[in-house]
Amino acid sequence: MHKSLRIAAVATACAVAGGALYGAGAATAGQSTANSTHEPYNIGLLVKDIDAYYGTAADANGVYQASPTSPYAKDLASVDKAARKYIDQAARKAHHKGEKPAVVFDIDDTLLLSLDYEKRYNYTYNATTWADYVNRADRPAVFGSPELVQYAEKKGVEVFYNSGLSEAQRSAAVENLKKIGADVNLDTDHVFLKDKANPPSYLSACATPGTWTCTTVQYKSGTRAHIEKDLGYEIIANFGDQYSDLDGGYADRTYKLPNPTYFVS
Ligand SMILES: [Mg+2]
Repeated sequence: MHKSLRIAAVATACAVAGGALYGAGAATAGQSTANSTHEPYNIGLLVKDIDAYYGTAADANGVYQASPTSPYAKDLASVDKAARKYIDQAARKAHHKGEKPAVVFDIDDTLLLSLDYEKRYNYTYNATTWADYVNRADRPAVFGSPELVQYAEKKGVEVFYNSGLSEAQRSAAVENLKKIGADVNLDTDHVFLKDKANPPSYLSACATPGTWTCTTVQYKSGTRAHIEKDLGYEIIANFGDQYSDLDGGYADRTYKLPNPTYFVS
């Protein structure tokens, strides 16, 4: 993930002030409001909405977890259901045509849920704390995603991972993916991570050794182009929690997983 470019919400002070002084934000009798069409959604209320969406609650170890019965879980289940039906059909078609079908998964918040980090740090980002969090290799699964990885493999579809995590984070990422049961093709030929020091030649349009100017879309679509054009696969589906995971082509279909906690351009 190109975390340095992400736009994060900052919450604490606003949440307290908003809740105490203005309640739900609705004007009451005798109050006058600007009726502005430009005032953004109240950030304190947004944080509450996000908590409700995930059903966020601390577990016995104080780790924030999403609820498997939350609206978030239900949204994921409907994406998964549609994706399974499509993968089944698209895989049959591809095999019939003699193509090699593949699926591509982003990692952060597509397979590994970062809710505990986001909630703990009020939806902000810090390179040091983020790196520590990733290296603990203890993130829970995004509900249903490991099962979707296994489903694709069972249907004869090659599974690839396309992540903005760095090469330095490879062992932690692989360990964490194994732990959640996404234990398919976790080798260097299938897990594509960002190598800024030694970028692959297929990214030469935006990266050479020592010079990296690739946007997330350039990096991720460039990697998918490599999988299709150089490795000979037909990417039938691409899964990500950010639009920048999905834009730029080289996938027959894209699946956007929900993530209201940050935006990666
Ligand atoms: Mg992601």
